[in-house]
Amino acid sequence: MSTSSSVRVAVRVRPLTEQEYQQHCCISFIPDQPQITVGHEQRSFTFDYAYPPTSNQQQVYDTSITPLLYKFLDGYNATVLAYGQTGSGKTYSMGIGLDSASSEGIVPRFVDSLFTELTQRQTSPEVYVSFLELYNEDLVDLLNPVKRGEGLHVSIREDAQGNICWMGVKEAPVSNSKDLLSLLQKGSIERTTASTDMNRSSSRSHAIFSVILKQTLEDGTRITSKFHFVDLAGSERLKRTNAVGDRAKEGISINTGLLALGNVISALGDESRKVSHIPYRDSKLTRLLQDSLGGNSQTLMLACVSPADSNYTETLNTLKYANRAR
Ligand code: ADP
Ligand code: MG
Repeated sequence: MSTSSSVRVAVRVRPLTEQEYQQHCCISFIPDQPQITVGHEQRSFTFDYAYPPTSNQQQVYDTSITPLLYKFLDGYNATVLAYGQTGSGKTYSMGIGLDSASSEGIVPRFVDSLFTELTQRQTSPEVYVSFLELYNEDLVDLLNPVKRGEGLHVSIREDAQGNICWMGVKEAPVSNSKDLLSLLQKGSIERTTASTDMNRSSSRSHAIFSVILKQTLEDGTRITSKFHFVDLAGSERLKRTNAVGDRAKEGISINTGLLALGNVISALGDESRKVSHIPYRDSKLTRLLQDSLGGNSQTLMLACVSPADSNYTETLNTLKYANRAR
């Protein structure tokens, strides 16, 4: 268990799908241990949390997200990153998709608990949300879509305290969970429509849903905390090197985000490098999240994998990537 590190890693193995039910499972667990063993070679990995296919949304939320909610309420930034190949359960786990199963995922649960907690606090809380999609280093504001071809102008500024500010991104004020969830839904519809219109698969983009909390403490101090929920592009994109034209461009820049994220997370987890350089500037993704990865903030990497034999290679790649984060 990493106790000092602010980065935790959870691996979630989804159940076999209906199409896969005749396949063998390439993953095994040791009961009550956060350990996963994969493939014929029986390679073992240990994480902070390991969720077998029988784990439900509530168990995932209670164990790995609730502690982050309390830190967030206390004024710390937090980030949850869903990593894994397309179809491994990232959007399902995050709960930011449009199918009804999604309503049980992390974000809707978080939003409900957040407002319940806030009603019990005398901190005059103000809550704002933003929802961005990052595609080929291009940003789309899902809560404030601009016309096609008009490109969104966002500049990423850093203040003297190291706070990152996204200039030009809509932050919508919300006062209850219902309003917040309806913005989430609106943005998710926009994500789906925009990707269809522009012939871009949403599996190739990163989605960043953020909740910003401003509170006033008893002594009058104002504190702001941010919680980012990131549904990353499919990790199978990480190694597509022989594509051409537009597809190559896509492959390369999504590589950039996932690669840079892996480097940042592994640098953060490396005790001996604590004071040295963390390469946030290597991609827009890591730059956007700079003040919410490392430092005083809490980060959870939720690595999602399929248990099916046919996905063995991608599953092993995901476990290796997640292992670098520890
Ligand atoms: P991704 O976002 O990684 O591409 P999805 O979240 O869309 O993958 O999941 C792929 C499919 O598997 C969806 O139909 C989803 O409902 C289902 N699924 C994923 N994880 C689980 C799970 N833990 N339990 C049940 N169904 C799941
Ligand atoms: Mg998805």
